[in-house]
Amino acid sequence: MTQTTPMRPTLDVLQALDARDPLAHKRAEFLLPLGVIYLDGNSLGALPAAVPARLDHVARREWGEALIRSWTADAAQGRDWMALPDRVAAKLARLIGARPHEVAVGDSTSVNLFKALSAALAVAEPTRRVILTDADNFPTDLYVAQGLNALLGGRYELRPVAAADLSADLGTDVAAVMLTQVDYRTGERLDLAAVTAQARAVGAVTLWDLAHSAGAFEVDLNGAGADFAVGCGYKYLNGGPGAPAFLFAAERHHAAPVALSGWMGHADPFEMAREYAPAAGARRFVVGTPTVLSLSALDTALDVFADVDLGALRAKSLLLTGTFMALLDGVPDLTLVTPADHERRGSQVSYRHPQAREAMRRLVDRGVIGDFRTPDILRFGFTPLYLSHQDVYHAAQAVQDIVRELRA
Ligand SMILES: *Cc1c(COP(=O)(O)O)cnc(C)c1O
Repeated sequence: MTQTTPMRPTLDVLQALDARDPLAHKRAEFLLPLGVIYLDGNSLGALPAAVPARLDHVARREWGEALIRSWTADAAQGRDWMALPDRVAAKLARLIGARPHEVAVGDSTSVNLFKALSAALAVAEPTRRVILTDADNFPTDLYVAQGLNALLGGRYELRPVAAADLSADLGTDVAAVMLTQVDYRTGERLDLAAVTAQARAVGAVTLWDLAHSAGAFEVDLNGAGADFAVGCGYKYLNGGPGAPAFLFAAERHHAAPVALSGWMGHADPFEMAREYAPAAGARRFVVGTPTVLSLSALDTALDVFADVDLGALRAKSLLLTGTFMALLDGVPDLTLVTPADHERRGSQVSYRHPQAREAMRRLVDRGVIGDFRTPDILRFGFTPLYLSHQDVYHAAQAVQDIVRELRA
């Protein structure tokens, strides 16, 4: 990507960029409070404008009136709760470079990590004993791996290494490589294709966490030859608080054992058979009854992406984050921890600040919502679908003001 970042751009320049922003029309598809610049869509995506009406329809018509009849297909009524996970999976597949039957939607990211890591270890070379992961991985990823390993009798060594040392540790003793593509604290982005290729070269199975990738930029899982992946529905995908998460399993792994073999992943749930027989494709990773209300919200939220060119999304994301960094360059007390190199960052920018918690409290009071991450990180997420270049300018102004206030 040969996007260039303007040197400390002026408001005029940013207004001009807004005027020719190919994604500018997407902002009207979200309901955002007045007076707020929302830089936390990487933690909880904003509310898509069409979601409340969908939820109202599902509650009053599909649940309230049609009642249990809504589980089964009625094309005329446009309802079919049983197929909802598959419909949502098909919309998601395009964003992550997967085919629809390789994606299962439901449960939380944590639970999907358990399912995907179980499957990854089951298809890995049986003599291998190492699960390689990033020492700074998101806590739940590490906890799930610890819990699964305990369940497996401690058979594996969970080896956390610094992201920079991954290649050095990627040997033929590695069963699975479990990584989060974009670091939740620093915003550093790993080269998914390159790391996947390295892992494949030594025969290790890959499991990617796309929590801060899906919906932020294009991911090409099949293009990279990735084995498994999971991701979050409530961050850049805007599915709402606690939205269902997703699991990707490459087609070649569809015969892998299913650790959480529930009836909704059965080939024919209502046959009520005594023996588990997996459904075709990734649907086997769906466990229990689909969470219809939250799946419906996610289903409608994903429609926002239908006409979005993912290349344009990434280009705007880099312009927004690059502009923010340029505007805050050299501000005292702020230490940039996000890579300035375009290829090496996701859609967030983070700084260390000696009074980060207080600084963020004051920013939020001023209507610039980002978040604080321990111990001293100010984290700002940039969602290209609903942020303008001018928003970035005003947010950077507020950050400078607060930093100056705290020095006084
Ligand atoms: C947000 C996030 C999760 C969230 O997991 P939940 O089960 O939805 O709570 C998992 N992994 C990473 C890397 C995250 O950023």
